[in-house]
Amino acid sequence: MVPLHENSRVIILGGGPSGAACALTLKRKASMMGKRIDIILIEGKQFAGELHHNQCVGVLSPPLPRLLSDELGIPFPDHLSRSKITGYVLHTKNERITLDGGEEPSIALRRVQFDDFMLDEVRKAGITVMTARAVDIELHGDKVIIYTENAPVEGDVVVGAFGLDEGSAAMFGRVSDYRPPDELSSVVTKYHPSSEVISLFGERIHAFLPTHPRIEFGGITPKGNHLTINIAGKSVDSPLMQSFLSMPEVVKLFDHMKDMGKFDHDDARLFKGRFPCTLAKGYYGNRYVMVGDAAGLVRSFKGKGVTSGIQTGIRAANTMLFVGISKEAFHDDYCPANEDIISDMPYGRVMRFITITLARFGLLDAVVRAAKTDPGLRGALFGAVSAQFAYKPVLIKSIQPRRMLGVVREFLK
Ligand SMILES: Cc1cc2nc3c(=O)[nH]c(=O)nc-3n(C[C@H](O)[C@H](O)[C@H](O)COP(=O)(O)OP(=O)(O)OC[C@H]3O[C@@H](n4cnc5c(N)ncnc54)[C@H](O)[C@@H]3O)c2cc1C
Repeated sequence: MVPLHENSRVIILGGGPSGAACALTLKRKASMMGKRIDIILIEGKQFAGELHHNQCVGVLSPPLPRLLSDELGIPFPDHLSRSKITGYVLHTKNERITLDGGEEPSIALRRVQFDDFMLDEVRKAGITVMTARAVDIELHGDKVIIYTENAPVEGDVVVGAFGLDEGSAAMFGRVSDYRPPDELSSVVTKYHPSSEVISLFGERIHAFLPTHPRIEFGGITPKGNHLTINIAGKSVDSPLMQSFLSMPEVVKLFDHMKDMGKFDHDDARLFKGRFPCTLAKGYYGNRYVMVGDAAGLVRSFKGKGVTSGIQTGIRAANTMLFVGISKEAFHDDYCPANEDIISDMPYGRVMRFITITLARFGLLDAVVRAAKTDPGLRGALFGAVSAQFAYKPVLIKSIQPRRMLGVVREFLK
C-alpha cells in the first residue's frame, strides 16, 4: 500500500478527460522521478473517426489550457477550437442580462475530437490503451483484477474514471462501499442556422432559467457553424426539449435573429446525457480510487466537468505516486487535495435550491433587474453562470442585505 514503485502497475478504467489526465500525470511524474511504472488504460469507445462519443456541449473553462501545458506537458489543441466564449446572456421569464468578465475566455470545441486528442497523447506517451469494455473486478489484499471483453488485466491499483457508466458503478458497488453520485439528466440537440444568424449570435452562451417545474436550466451555445442546445433537470426528455424550444423567451431569441422560419424542430436529433450533482459514496478504498464524474467531484449545480475531471485525475496520480494506494492514503491526501471542490458543494446545493425556487415563482426577473444597476450582483451572476468562481463567494456576495433590498425593491415595482 506504499507509494507506486518500480514496475508497479496501475489500471485506469475509462479514457475520458479524467482517466487520460491521470495516465499522463503518472507517466510524466514517474519518469521525472526515474521510476518505471506500468500503466494500462481501458476504454470501451473509439473516438477516432467519431464512432462513439461522450455526451458534452464541449465548452472548456479556464484553467484547462494551463493544466494541459503545465501539469500534463501537452499544448492545448487550439486547432480544435470552434469558437471562443467571451460571456453569457442570462434569460429569465421576462428579462435578459449580458454577463461578461473573467480573465480568459472559455473555448468551445467538439468533445469527441478533444477525447480523441487526449487518448492520442496517452498513446504517444507510451501508455497501453486497451480498447475493450471492463465487465468485472476483483479487489484482493495484494492485487486488483479487471476482467474485460478482451483479456483480463492484473494490477496494484485501479483508478475508476468511468464517468456515470451504470455497469461500471454496479461492478465496483459489488466489491466495495462505492455508490455513484446522484444525477441530473440532460437532453442535447443541434441547430445549423444561416451564417448570418451565427455571426449575429456572437461569442456568448445564452443561459435560460425557465419557470418550467421540470427544466432547471437550458443553454444555447455557439459552436462555429452551429448552435448546441441543451436542457437539464431531474428527468428531462424529448417532449421537454420541445417545450423549451417553444418557450416565449427562447422563441424571442430566434425571432430576434429573424431566422425562426428556418427552424425545423423535427429535424433536430436529440441526445441524452447525465451530470453528477452530489459526491459519490465510498469513492476510494484500498487499491481503488475514483476520479471525475465517477467520484461526483464536480461543481454541484453547473458545469466545468472536463476541467474538474482533469484536476482530479492529476490529484489521484499525485497521491498514488507520493503517498500510497491505501484507503488511508487517499483519505489523508486525495480528499484534502479536492477540498476546493468538496467544500463548495453545500454552497452549490443551496444556490441550486434558491435558483430553482426563485425561477418557479417567477422571481428571477427582479434579480436580473437589480443586477442591471448593481455591478456586484452582476459579477456574482457571472461567477455562478460561467462556473469561473466558487459558489461560496458568489452566495456571500449575493445575500448581502443591501443587495437583497435592491432585489425586493425591483420585485415591488
Ligand atoms: C449534456 C452534457 C453537457 C456537458 N457539457 C459540458 C461542457 O460544456 N463543459 C464541461 O466542462 N463539461 C460538460 N459536461 C460534463 C462533462 O462531460 C463531464 O464532467 C466529463 O466528461 C467527465 O469526464 P470523466 O473522464 O470523468 O468521464 P467521461 O467523460 O464520462 O469518461 C468516462 C469514460 O469511461 C469509459 N467507460 C466507462 N465504463 C467503462 C467500462 N466498463 N469499460 C471501458 N470503458 C468504460 C467511457 O466509455 C468513457 O469514455 C457535460 C455533460 C453533459 C451530460
